[in-house]
Amino acid sequence: MQYRKLGKTGIQISAVSFGSWLTFGKQIENKIAETLMHTAYDAGINFFDNAEIYSRGQSEIVMGNILKKAAWPRSSYMVSSKVFFGYEDSKPNQTGLSRKHIMEGCHAALKRLQVDYIDLYFCHRPDKQTPIAETVWAMNTLIQQGKILYWGTSEWSAQEILQAHIEAARHNLMGPVMEQPQYHMFEREKIEKDYLHIYQYEGLGTTIWSPLASGLLSGKYNNGMPTDTRLNIEGMDWLKERMFVEGRIEKIKKLAALATELGISLPVMAIAWVLKNEHVSTAILGASKLQQLEENLKALDAVPLLTDEVIEKIETILENKPVQPQF
Ligand code: NDP
Repeated sequence: MQYRKLGKTGIQISAVSFGSWLTFGKQIENKIAETLMHTAYDAGINFFDNAEIYSRGQSEIVMGNILKKAAWPRSSYMVSSKVFFGYEDSKPNQTGLSRKHIMEGCHAALKRLQVDYIDLYFCHRPDKQTPIAETVWAMNTLIQQGKILYWGTSEWSAQEILQAHIEAARHNLMGPVMEQPQYHMFEREKIEKDYLHIYQYEGLGTTIWSPLASGLLSGKYNNGMPTDTRLNIEGMDWLKERMFVEGRIEKIKKLAALATELGISLPVMAIAWVLKNEHVSTAILGASKLQQLEENLKALDAVPLLTDEVIEKIETILENKPVQPQF
């Protein structure tokens, strides 16, 4: 395993990590979740990602039980949660980034995960109704209380992250140190363009979600809709619509041919492509089956195969390289 610095923090995070969205407490049996966590940990993964909204708290309960049973040294891994979408109903104050929901959300997540502190605590989305200063103060309080170690954002705009830094500096508080954006071959703007200024002036760790575009970049949807997969689960039509953008499957077929030329599988090439970006601290892997995780864990070894020439070929297929701002 390779470990990377999480932005400007002193934390070392495994270049690939493991997350539980849609799988733990929902798509897969708890026994499989346990096997996946152990396989990840044994491979050197030291970060497990979670959120209050995942299966409305069930995902954290499943992960908490596995962590408790495994009894790994607490210092050998990091666990996250995310606050915003809530875990109960959506009554006023049960969602969002007010001090009230941040405090209550954190206390509930600590109980479900059965840990004394959460290593990385994320604001799962920006909250347009709550002043950013209130959120920064609440996160700083949780750090002072020892309930979380670091806080960050997920899918915040560059302006919102910078505003949080301004508020933190103004009041001498701890600002956000990491962001969790979607990043894969079809989703590039935030990581490759929007955040450039923040990497340079504030430092920013990134924990990447959906490196395979929910499995689309595994190539298994190239010839129709397989059964027993995420995009086929009842209620996932919204995700299917987002992923099946016109033209993607044609490009994925070309990418698959390139991966074959390199002697690797398409998912391995797609994750290696994410890991090649120097601004990526960790790519969070998702898996519903052991075989998928074992395959995806090969991605780090495949990064050197992505030479300038190969990257150029990928760019020619994708035709979506973000245009850099002219200063
Ligand atoms: P991916 O894009 O890698 O999708 C993972 C899914 O793709 C698997 O569950 C599996 O689904 C399929 N898959 C994975 N590997 C293979 C393979 N080798 N061959 C075939 N199919 C494969 O990642 P996720 O979307 O799961 O995101 C990873 C993590 O990121 C999440 O668990 C969560 O922790 C985090 N996340 C954060 C978000 C945020 O807003 N901050 C949003 C979303 C995720 P199946 O078998 O069902 O087809």
